[in-house]
Amino acid sequence: LHRRVAADVADEELAKLVDTLNRMIGRLQTSFGALRRFTADASHELKTPLTVVRADVGRAMHPGASNEERMQVLEEAMAEVARMSDLVDGLLTLARADEGRFEVYREPIRLEPLARDVFETAVILGEEAGVSVALPLVEDATVMGDATRLRQLFLNLITNAIKYTPRGGHVEITLSLRNNDEVGFAVRDTGVGIAAADLELIFDRFWRADRVRSRKPTDGRGTVDRGGFGLGLSIAQWIAQAHGGSLTAQSRLARGSIFTVLLPVAKADADAPPSPEKPA
Ligand code: ADP
Repeated sequence: LHRRVAADVADEELAKLVDTLNRMIGRLQTSFGALRRFTADASHELKTPLTVVRADVGRAMHPGASNEERMQVLEEAMAEVARMSDLVDGLLTLARADEGRFEVYREPIRLEPLARDVFETAVILGEEAGVSVALPLVEDATVMGDATRLRQLFLNLITNAIKYTPRGGHVEITLSLRNNDEVGFAVRDTGVGIAAADLELIFDRFWRADRVRSRKPTDGRGTVDRGGFGLGLSIAQWIAQAHGGSLTAQSRLARGSIFTVLLPVAKADADAPPSPEKPA
């Protein structure tokens, strides 16, 4: 796929055809490359926890191991298995989304209660992480969508905001109407931020700012292990797009980030069947 058809053809029509062919080969090369990277990344992410689980089981089976030691290693193995399940769930979601066979239910969803609900979870997560969370603005709006998926999308942005904000920082959640036909759910944090050059990469699968995959308890800045696989934002963006909306990010390194979901507001009579009296 790295090869191209020679372009020095005299015939104009043939030259056009050669150009089209070459561009098609180029696109194939890019997508094969992406696929290869994706498989390599997924295998790598699974390999680490599998190695840990194998070692743990070996230690638990050792005849000299005490009950206490056994419990300890089994707990560690359990945590790794949970991580692998999360990864496989994420991969399955994306694979189904790619194939276009993921059902996104469409029913009228009021966003205000949903925003308040995820805010409550955010407060609890924030308390554990020493990050204060506020909900300064909530305007109600109804969208046609899938409540479970929208919740997943909102929570993903919230957990990221808390995860990437050091202790003492602040996270703000807002839900506001924009031009009456769109509603915006925004999560703003005062965290580590994202470098301008990285901003276009954050929605890529497996992309993470700190590419170091060794999961040490601290990362040298005194913050705890941030876990993650780099799939969350890809899934979040897919959910927003599957609802006819978008997910965008603005950020400044060491200053903080804002992630904004825009969703089309449901028409007032979207859930009612069209009445025959109404003119077309
Ligand atoms: P994960 O959080 O599991 O690594 P995501 O897909 O959710 O994966 O995010 C990808 C990367 O984008 C993160 O690893 C992090 O580097 C960056 N990122 C996401 N949200 C934020 C945020 N609120 N502040 C700073 N960086 C962020």
